[in-house]
Parts: sequence; structure tokens; C-alpha cells
Amino acid sequence: MSYKKVEKILICIYCKSNDLINESNKINCNHCGKYYLVDSKGRLIVQQIKLKERTELTYKLKNYLRNNQKVDNLIYFLFSPVLVNTRQRKKLFKKLSKSDIIINIGGGSTKLANNVINVDIKPYVNVDIVSDCNNLPFADSSVDGIISEVVLEHIQEPHKAVIEMYRVLKPGGYIYAEIPFIQGYHESPGDYQRYTIEGLEELFKDFKKVKIGVSIGPSSALAWILRDYLAILFSFNSTKIYNVLTLLFTPLTWPIKLLDFILVYNKNAHNISSLLYFFGKKE
Ligand SMILES: [Zn+2]
Repeated sequence: MSYKKVEKILICIYCKSNDLINESNKINCNHCGKYYLVDSKGRLIVQQIKLKERTELTYKLKNYLRNNQKVDNLIYFLFSPVLVNTRQRKKLFKKLSKSDIIINIGGGSTKLANNVINVDIKPYVNVDIVSDCNNLPFADSSVDGIISEVVLEHIQEPHKAVIEMYRVLKPGGYIYAEIPFIQGYHESPGDYQRYTIEGLEELFKDFKKVKIGVSIGPSSALAWILRDYLAILFSFNSTKIYNVLTLLFTPLTWPIKLLDFILVYNKNAHNISSLLYFFGKKE
């Protein structure tokens, strides 16, 4: 965890100056006097959003898994209704070199490569910069690549975040984004919207579209909806029973997702798919 790889392109989020002075545990803005702390793990704290403290067991478990990537990947495969697919993301890495700067917005604890800088609103393991995605601490046209996976549905004004992504990306740079189309409600900390292919095209219209399509297919969408539907049907309007049934119905419904090994390639899959992607370029 370190912001050092992007030190030269950092700006002050308040006055937009790049006149920043590095001290041992903070960065001072020489222009407006604001300062940013560096925590004991080497993370630069630009803006930390105060989230409501949660005590539910499922929430604590989610937090634990976010900080333990290998366990998280296994649990995700065994219990999640979606068949994770990282194939489409490779399109971005093929276009960029290992020395290019890529920022992963909302990257959490997932470390994709050495040249990927994780930006997140919470200081998870592997987060390099703690910041809000609507006000990124990077200079205009300063990064070579941007990744944003299943993040924009959790943002109240996603078009503002996309404008910010466009600002920091260099001309000739690439963006890879994934947003759900058909998934159940999942707060992190909020859950505000879903997108169709046309909706994604509209959201990223400032970029040149290279490819758009399905990342996670229709079987995953069905597995999630069926699991939650059965839990609602047999819960007799009790949230406690619903929560338990959601866990119980998981092993019954998740094998459906395996059909996505095939159906993700179906040309009509986007009509009811779980997750869509946009891959584009700034011209
Ligand atoms: Zn400043």
C-alpha cells in the first residue's frame, strides 16, 4: 500500500494545486494550507467518508472477507449466485504496459497488478489512496488507465464520477467499467441504480466505445433472483427468516450460475444479464 507511485500526479482536492510538499506522515498543500495524512500502512487519506457503524454478523463477515482476498474468492465461488468473470477486464491490460499508471476506483482489497493503484472510500487492505471518487486527487489527463468494477451502482450521482474519470484519464488512455443490470439489492453502503447496454453507452458517451457487452451472464441473474424470491416467498414477512432462508437457498440455487460458462456468449444474453461492461478510450 503506497501512494508513492502516483506522487507526481497528485493534486490538492480543495484548490487543485499540484504544489504539494511531502512530510514524514502527511502531504501539505503549499497553495491553500490543507494537508492530507498518511496512515501507518502508507495509505494517503484524502477523504474518508464516515460510514454508519454496522454490527450485523453478515456485515462483519463481508468486512472480514474484503480484507482476506483468497478466502473471499473461494467463498465467492462457493456461495455467491454470480459466476465471476475477469476475462473482459483483460482487454484493458492488453492495451497498456506494465509501467502505465492504472487507477482502480473502488478497488477495495483486490490487487490486480503492481501498476494498479487502488482508490476506495474505506482503508481496506491493498487500498493506496482513501478518497471519494467524485473528487479524485489526480491532475487532469494524468493516468493511463481506469478500472471501475461494480462501484457506480453504489454512487448517488454516477454521471459526476464518470466526468471525474474522464478528467483524470490521459487522451489515448483506456477505461474499463462494470455495472450490474439484473442483481438483487446489495448495499455498500447504498445501492442506487442498474444499467442497460444503452444506459451504459449514455453514461460513458464522452469516451470512444471500444467494446460493450456482458461480463456476468443471465444464469447468474436468475440464480440471484430465484434465491431471493424463494426466501421472500417462505419468510412470512419476517426479515429474520428471510435472512436465514437466503443463506439456506444459496446452495440450492447457485449451481444455475454454472450455465453462464456457456450462456455468457449468447448474443441475446444482455437482455437479462447480471453484469455489463463498457470498455472505452479517451480521444
Ligand atoms: Zn490546496
